[in-house]
Amino acid sequence: MANLYKSIFVFFSTFFVVCARHEVYDGHTLYEVVVKNAKQAVFVNGLENEMLVDVFSYANTGRAGEILVPKEQKMEFEAKLMSMDVEYSILSKNIKEQLDWEDMILAEAASKPVNRSSSRNLRLAPLPLDKTHRFEEVNNYLVRVSNAYPNRATVESAGRSFEGRDMKYLKISTTNFKDRRKPVIFLLSLLHAREWVALSATLYAIEKLVIDVSDHDLVNDFDWIIMPIANPDGFEFSHTTERFWRKNRRNHGGKIKPWCMGVDLNRNFDVDFKSSKDPCGQTFPGPHPFSEPESVNIRRVLNAYSNRIHMFIDIHSFGSMILFGRGTGKLAPNATTLKFVGVNMAQAIDRVKWPSKPKYTVGNIADVLGTRAFGILNDYAQIGAGIPLSFVYELPGYQGRGDKTGFLIEPSFTRQAGVETWEGIKTGARTIRDSVKKES
Ligand SMILES: [Zn+2]
Repeated sequence: MANLYKSIFVFFSTFFVVCARHEVYDGHTLYEVVVKNAKQAVFVNGLENEMLVDVFSYANTGRAGEILVPKEQKMEFEAKLMSMDVEYSILSKNIKEQLDWEDMILAEAASKPVNRSSSRNLRLAPLPLDKTHRFEEVNNYLVRVSNAYPNRATVESAGRSFEGRDMKYLKISTTNFKDRRKPVIFLLSLLHAREWVALSATLYAIEKLVIDVSDHDLVNDFDWIIMPIANPDGFEFSHTTERFWRKNRRNHGGKIKPWCMGVDLNRNFDVDFKSSKDPCGQTFPGPHPFSEPESVNIRRVLNAYSNRIHMFIDIHSFGSMILFGRGTGKLAPNATTLKFVGVNMAQAIDRVKWPSKPKYTVGNIADVLGTRAFGILNDYAQIGAGIPLSFVYELPGYQGRGDKTGFLIEPSFTRQAGVETWEGIKTGARTIRDSVKKES
């Protein structure tokens, strides 16, 4: 009986602790918006800057968008949609309830014992993917991986974030990067802080390339660079304070409202950079290209190996997409190859994905999203650093509890997210290798 009381006490104390969070989102409504044509798409997606509402996913013909709107802007938002005859529905009347729910399921997942049976014979236990991991934990893990496998993995620092966090990345190689003929593949995640599921993809890649290798050709034929947390300050802030934080944590706005902090790192690169005077927007690009230490650090790693990197993948969520440049809609000269490799990768993921998740869409960023993106990392990698194959992955969104609320984490899905994304990356790598062999 005592145990029962204890369980009830633990349940309710957890419940009240988690419900005291996320006050900043109380009353925020998440809308699903359906557009019938390109004109409506431009209008709806333009509300991101016009009203400073938070576009979770852009609307395009054939694919609904998701937009989070604060309580006080709801009437104006709905009036604007109606004036343009845009259809909408409400996915979550008060997003805070969804966030409280996420806290509950994450706390539950965190308290479950780790299943070590599958990793019993491994030198190092991989980080369990059905739990969330904070910045320090991931950084320490990278060090542990390199200590346990010194002949295969080396941990390096790309430099410090604005708040001074060490942006570590892993170099994976059987020849310590000395065999310069080997193509390099560079994987990066969490450039956008709130896209937590993306971490599963890079962590699982580390697991399969270093700790629990089953595809030896991928370890022998390639060198790998993996940077799991490209926006550490924003990522920590999304854990401690605002779950839907996207940007970094540098203030370019002087005495401004709290949400005006930060630069969208994925607009801070110098290919097609487009300036903006409004630091409050979710896609504020910063005062000039490479104004942010995080973008400079990423550029440094890309440039150091650019002559050997054959493929770069910037992993985001959500939307089940594989996208290629440029963000303005102008196609790269090798767009046909990008499409070919992208479709191969998407089909590999689709073959093993959960039936409840949508099939992957492959295409040009502006074309698929229905909006243009300027100064993005993908375009810097492809054009600035000259990497032939540069992609953006958008992992599947959350679909629990009958709602679609994009960024939330389902502990039951996160390992699957890593497993299926790895299928795409593997296929991309092998496609590159086979085409290089054919050419030589
Ligand atoms: Zn993103």
